Amino acid sequence: MSIASNIKSLHAKLSESVTLIAVSKTKPKADLMEAYGAGQRHFGENYIQELQEKQAELPADIHWQFIGHLQSNKVKYIAPYVYLIHGVDSLKLLTEINKQALKNNRIIDCLLQVHIASEETKFGLSEEELVTLINSSEFDSLKNIQIKGLMGMASFTDNIDQMEREFASLKSIFVKVKTVSKSNLKLTEISMGMSGDYELAIKHGSTMVRIGSSIFGSR
Ligand SMILES: *Cc1c(COP(=O)(O)O)cnc(C)c1O
Repeated sequence: MSIASNIKSLHAKLSESVTLIAVSKTKPKADLMEAYGAGQRHFGENYIQELQEKQAELPADIHWQFIGHLQSNKVKYIAPYVYLIHGVDSLKLLTEINKQALKNNRIIDCLLQVHIASEETKFGLSEEELVTLINSSEFDSLKNIQIKGLMGMASFTDNIDQMEREFASLKSIFVKVKTVSKSNLKLTEISMGMSGDYELAIKHGSTMVRIGSSIFGSR
């Protein structure tokens, strides 16, 4: 299967309510252009330097999404153009994104990452930390960010029941937090699901799937 045919079959398969993020980390620009030629516009990258190089050379109508772990001191590089930052998990990082968005005279859309996996190593907020963050007065003062939704990653496991529980837990946190209305927070998106588990994630309400290897091959 070619990259273009993988993109086309995913576009045909996914419903209108699910956005396909093509995860192109470590892949050459020619691969991204093949996906672009098949109509793909949302691309996800994990590394700042690589994203910078690709953004500079590839078409201007690509919606670049940062899906990796973002360090505060790197925000300034992507602030002029980034379309959506998926993995925000601290007030410190959010404050820096707000500062750089202000400098660029724009509002940067973000997703807050929630820890749903049983593994210790994955990043993200607990439900309690999430609620504390969005109810803080510091959060209210951030006028140049807009929280669009939540992001999560299931455990790396073959246990389907466990993955379903984890996706369901993100959905239930989403439903609760969705009732909170603030000028800089209106939840509409749930970013969950990767090559191996996106069908399960969609079953549990995902609106954004981040798919890499099923499009571009293994890394
Ligand atoms: C690499 C990556 C993906 C894509 O993973 P695949 O298994 O290749 O589809 C999705 N989300 C995040 C956060 C990633 O780092």
